[in-house]
Amino acid sequence: LYLKYHVKVHDYFDLIILYIGSRIYYNLINNNLEDTMKTIKKKKKDNLTKDDLIYLMEVEEPKELEAIFNKAYEVKKREIGQRVFYRGLIEFGNYCVKNCYYCGIRKDNIDVERYHMSKEEIMSSVRWIYANGYGSVALQSGERRDPQYIDFVEDIIREIKKIGDIGITISLGEQTEETYQRWFDAGAHRYLLRIESSTDRIYKSIHPNDELHDFETRVNCLKLLKKIGYQVGTGVMIGLPDQTEEDLVNDILFYKENDIDMIGMGPYIPHNDTPMGQQELNIPSKQKRVELGLKMIALTRLYLKDVNIAATTALQGLDPLGREKGLKAGANILMPITTKDEHRAKYQLYNDKPCIDDNADKCKGCLEGRINSIGEEIAYGAWGDSPHFSKK
Ligand code: SAM
Ligand code: SF4
Repeated sequence: LYLKYHVKVHDYFDLIILYIGSRIYYNLINNNLEDTMKTIKKKKKDNLTKDDLIYLMEVEEPKELEAIFNKAYEVKKREIGQRVFYRGLIEFGNYCVKNCYYCGIRKDNIDVERYHMSKEEIMSSVRWIYANGYGSVALQSGERRDPQYIDFVEDIIREIKKIGDIGITISLGEQTEETYQRWFDAGAHRYLLRIESSTDRIYKSIHPNDELHDFETRVNCLKLLKKIGYQVGTGVMIGLPDQTEEDLVNDILFYKENDIDMIGMGPYIPHNDTPMGQQELNIPSKQKRVELGLKMIALTRLYLKDVNIAATTALQGLDPLGREKGLKAGANILMPITTKDEHRAKYQLYNDKPCIDDNADKCKGCLEGRINSIGEEIAYGAWGDSPHFSKK
């Protein structure tokens, strides 16, 4: 009817142009999709090259992205199964000697109410984690290197081991070899120390230029941890100022070169009371930042295959379904926050951190439902060590 009564002669011309345009666009997408499929379907023995990774990192078309995520999920299923492993996360203190430009609990942020959980508070959280079958605990805090703190952590690790068969990941920053060794001997067996960015230029731009924030020292810490026998985890922030797709691909190559066992990475989210919180974002759209985070997970899974990869809280910070999407893009680890309710809001690394008004009991049921809804199950009671490490 529209054509019969309303279309004028020049409108036919417009319609033809529109049709030709849409055909060209359709072919372009499908050719791209074909190229993307060819790249991700490489055989196991011909690993992806750096150029392949850059090509895939630049993909933006929804159909192509879906193909990448699906392929990564297939690899995750093959290497690990349809299982998710938990680490009950206890953020036991926010005192920090460092001043990373991006972090809400940096030393110079005087607006933070500082806390340090007592041994009894920590052990009560650990008992909850164990009783609820979480299998592993993850201890995290601001960075401290004073003898009191080092003794305290050692004691906590020994106490946790007495509770029962529970895996221990720690993420307590840069320490001396002796300290790492003491904590390992006490019973910690996984250590997470993010490199933040493997590109020296970016690392320098997001940290003060002094001895406390030295890139080489951080890389060396990863080497020490490996030498001691930890399962070593690292990771980066995604969407940092001036970070390119190639920088992110270099991060994935860095994981491989350093024989990393576990990856914990997530979007960078600004915190208002930090120097970086005042800067313009590289990628303003939340959706695009989530997408980039998911691409990093998927490409890391496709490239490294048998490592543990966490779907981090920061992903959920940008998208309420971020963690589920992370699992569907190839992640296999979740770190539900089990920090005591009264301290959660004080461990705020970035704006709008999720779950600060929740409690561990409330989160447990909700999370289980979300995980089951995507066809995955929680490996209750399992440590969930990195298969990559177990093969060594
Ligand atoms: N202090 C230890 C360290 O730095 O390794 C462990 C705790 S630190 C808070 C854990 C991680 O939080 C850092 O490695 C960093 O990647 C992440 N983080 C801090 N500020 C962030 C922000 N604004 N956005 C996203 N992640 C952030
Ligand atoms: Fe401290 Fe870690 Fe935050 Fe840096 S990222 S300021 S070391 S808590």
